[in-house]
Amino acid sequence: MKKVRCPKCNSYTVFDETRYQPGQRLVFVCSECNKQFAIQIPASSVPSNGEVNNEALGTIIVVENAFHYRQEIPLEMGDNVFGRYVHGTNINKPIETVDPSVDTRHCIIRVQRGKDGHLQYILRDAPSGTGTFYMNDILRDQDRVRLQDGSVITIGATTLILKLEI
Ligand SMILES: [Zn+2]
Repeated sequence: MKKVRCPKCNSYTVFDETRYQPGQRLVFVCSECNKQFAIQIPASSVPSNGEVNNEALGTIIVVENAFHYRQEIPLEMGDNVFGRYVHGTNINKPIETVDPSVDTRHCIIRVQRGKDGHLQYILRDAPSGTGTFYMNDILRDQDRVRLQDGSVITIGATTLILKLEI
């Protein structure tokens, strides 16, 4: 159960957040003052069966260019495989783009938890035809690059930015 505070009279209303979907918008009517107000269920804080399986792990921003619009792609634990979306693709992070220099399976960001409990973001090339660049340096096949907030990745003519701050 969660509490929301009325913005007018500060009294609390209790509701069962597990009945709603992440990102859903809820409208309440305060039982004290009848003020109507809305909240949005956070995309990351709704536990299902006691386990937080949709923890916010960061987002890849696909910067808009001539080939596509800006896109935001949420990351998940394990391998996040990026590439150009094609019909029947089996990668889990397809990018909607007509950039021909982005392979249909181009680069991989592995999200894992280190021994210290902190999340790690490890970039590698898929391998791709045109290469994966981290801060303008091309990755060799064996390279594993530790990313941080704001890291810039280039695949073909497409720029990706890792955003960890929500
Ligand atoms: Zn109220």
